[in-house]
Amino acid sequence: MTMAFEPETRRIRTDAMAEGRCACGHVRFLVRAKPMIVHGCHCRDCQRLSGGAFAINALFEADRVNLISGSTEEVSVPTPSGKGQKIARCPECKTAVWSNYHMGGLQERIRFVRVGTFVDPDRFPPDVHIYTASKQPHVLLSDATPAFEAFYDLRDVWSADGLGRYTRLMPSKGL
Ligand SMILES: [Zn+2]
Ligand SMILES: [Zn+2]
Repeated sequence: MTMAFEPETRRIRTDAMAEGRCACGHVRFLVRAKPMIVHGCHCRDCQRLSGGAFAINALFEADRVNLISGSTEEVSVPTPSGKGQKIARCPECKTAVWSNYHMGGLQERIRFVRVGTFVDPDRFPPDVHIYTASKQPHVLLSDATPAFEAFYDLRDVWSADGLGRYTRLMPSKGL
């Protein structure tokens, strides 16, 4: 059995926490919440950036995603919205660990963590698949998971907890 402590607070980690890292181990991070939502994104940009069929991004409040060690560097790339995303990468091995999308102006407040960088990525399967209009045909999706040809209305998909947390990030605007 392993017991792990957060260095700054000494609190014992809970089930709502998850650790991730880059390929070389320079960047290690800890997330202190369950995801607000997990996206499987089938847009062409995610295919190009990942080299795979789709990206899996778990969304968290930025202040719930904390570096344990190392540092990140930011790279800007295009998105279907035209507003771009900033990708945080390990400065050594260049693994992408999370992104900030425009997301209605919440860019700096929400981190889209690349689920494949978690120590246990199996914990975070997609809650919703998006941009399936460009889904690679060999990928077969389950009917049990909502899927949209482009984006979607958050109120149709997100849990009450996720919506509440999202709304708290933008108290002046609401949804
Ligand atoms: Zn690295
Ligand atoms: Zn995408």
